[in-house]
Amino acid sequence: MEKKFAILGDIHSNIEALSAVVEDARSRSVTDFVCVGDIVGYNANPNECVDLIRELNCFTVRGNHDHYCAYDESLDDFHPMAASVIAWTRRQLVGDRAQWLKALPLHAFHQGLTLVHSTLDMPERWGYVFDSIEAESHFFYQNTQICFHGHTHVPVIFQKHGANVVRYDPQNIHVSLGRKYFVNTGSVGQPRDNDSRASYCIYDPTQREIQFHRVEYDVQAAQEKIRKAGLPERLAQRISMGR
Ligand code: ZN
Repeated sequence: MEKKFAILGDIHSNIEALSAVVEDARSRSVTDFVCVGDIVGYNANPNECVDLIRELNCFTVRGNHDHYCAYDESLDDFHPMAASVIAWTRRQLVGDRAQWLKALPLHAFHQGLTLVHSTLDMPERWGYVFDSIEAESHFFYQNTQICFHGHTHVPVIFQKHGANVVRYDPQNIHVSLGRKYFVNTGSVGQPRDNDSRASYCIYDPTQREIQFHRVEYDVQAAQEKIRKAGLPERLAQRISMGR
């Protein structure tokens, strides 16, 4: 069977958003799911999101939230709000889920694609790639034609052609020979591009096409769970604003 990939990222314990995206991807005949990390953090359903990702047989790399929720390391470098949710998530993760998150690779070559949460330029430093200058140092390490990433929660395409790196807003792209693509899938569970709908990508290797998709989900249900869990109110507000 011909492969068709759904690439998900920055799910952040939002099971309503993740379920809606999985349903949408299945309706588009996706055969394989992959994830660029941050399954947990921010929203209220970390165990459920880890379980669904595992059920999907979804190949995943480790995000910074996955890392800090699984490893008992100092949270001093985090914004206090993010740190408080990571501490909460550490207490919530039961069974072997933290162990599973711990074992995820920081970057990977999978089925012809490169996957990384932040950037291949020192992935353990969790640098943010917002512009083409930041993408340039990443491309130095990208050996495949396509690499998917996340971390900023803003969907974007960086394309390298010769020495030129150009940034494009999300749009369907035909993968052309002689070019390299560093594609941010946007965030499933906490988008930050002023659009509250869950964001993900589909890659069709046969058609050589990358698509961006946005999916409506039950934001109110996710907000109610955040409030019920006693997590910061700002986290409930931001998912309805997409910021
Ligand atoms: Zn994230």
